[in-house]
Amino acid sequence: MTARQRLTILGSTGSVGASTLDVVARHPDRFEVYALTALNRADTLFKQCLEFQPRIAVVLEEAAAQDLRRRLHEAGSRCEVHSGAAALEEVARLREVEIVMAAIVGIAGLRPTLAAAQAGKKVLLANKEALVTAGAVLMDAVRASGATLLPIDSEHNAVFQALPSDYAGPAASGVRRILLTASGGPFRTLPLRELDRVTPDQACAHPNWTMGRKISVDSATMMNKGLEVIEARWLFDVPPERIEVVIHPESVVHSLVEYVDGSVIAQLGNPDMRTPIAYALGYPGRIEAGVEFLDLARIGALRFERPDLERFPCLKLAYGALAAGGTAPTVLNAANEVAVEQFLAGSLGFRQIPELIEAVLGGVDCAAVTGLEDVLAADRAARERARAWLQAARPRGTPLRQAAGS
Ligand code: NAD
Ligand code: MG
Repeated sequence: MTARQRLTILGSTGSVGASTLDVVARHPDRFEVYALTALNRADTLFKQCLEFQPRIAVVLEEAAAQDLRRRLHEAGSRCEVHSGAAALEEVARLREVEIVMAAIVGIAGLRPTLAAAQAGKKVLLANKEALVTAGAVLMDAVRASGATLLPIDSEHNAVFQALPSDYAGPAASGVRRILLTASGGPFRTLPLRELDRVTPDQACAHPNWTMGRKISVDSATMMNKGLEVIEARWLFDVPPERIEVVIHPESVVHSLVEYVDGSVIAQLGNPDMRTPIAYALGYPGRIEAGVEFLDLARIGALRFERPDLERFPCLKLAYGALAAGGTAPTVLNAANEVAVEQFLAGSLGFRQIPELIEAVLGGVDCAAVTGLEDVLAADRAARERARAWLQAARPRGTPLRQAAGS
């Protein structure tokens, strides 16, 4: 029997983290969970530790770590519990670990994802914000260490599957365009004036996918697709004008690659993250994912439309930041993270999300990226600018609760 592959899951208590454990549990002969990490949700992490018996668990706060340590000890577990951001990086680069699932949300996942790339791991990348904010830095690290970077985002996983295995860039491989599909989210057909009144729960009720709250709001604004355009630029080394977004409400075609001969190759499947996760875990082979198989006749019809940029200004802002280059995507991401947090807290209206991002992009100098420090500095500056905007805007802005409560 070949040795089992050891795995660290960064962000195991989230939506992607849980789906990863679901796939792993189907293949106990192939994978061993070595480390699990979470921000909080100690109950979920505690249960995961009992079920998967990792050697190490990491939480951010020491108080939460002490509590988890005591509970695990009482339950007879020998799992070590660590705390702090540095411990996240350590479990990402452990010599014993071969595979790292990067499933933390936001730029918070950048350092541990980078650590895994620098250590030459097989990196399963769900944490798109790491590539959006530090694309050049992360891709350089992958090249320097010989790490394998496998996209988990369903669109990029689809593109990866539709590209030749010896893909050498768009020109060399005859790729004309990459077509990223987007469901359009819960507000695709809502009358525009009603967008002012939508609540966080409505924004998080995605028609096809169940996901964490941040990415759900990003899907509703379509900033998610904007971030994915930037992600595709780095993963596949394609210029922005060769990346197109197509609305596809059924979320069955996960993305497509158009070749110079007119062929278009797509990857299809039911919308279930366990497919891209299983693909990456098994790569270069295929393993079972536990997903329901696709019944095309039952689905009947697949629709495709062009995105409406008036409804989804975030998509335009993301293309703009990608064209501007340097730290502009980092600034875009930071402003979006602040805006989504405020929207979810009920302090910012849905339509103010792009307003805030545009103001921050216009109010911060974007510079070239020479290393991680430039990225982190741009992130800090953008967050400061966003906070200043919020303070100035709040007295005259329409608080969400007031707008939604009428
Ligand atoms: P989630 O909110 O459900 O889970 C996030 C995980 O990260 C949790 O385990 C949480 O404890 C941890 N975390 C959050 N903040 C942290 C911090 N500051 N430090 C350390 N850990 C922290 O999110 P999700 O939906 O699973 O998404 C995770 C990532 O995968 C995101 O980047 C998202 O864009 C991407 N993604 C998700 C899906 C999906 O279906 N959910 C699909 C494609 C891509
Ligand atoms: Mg996606």
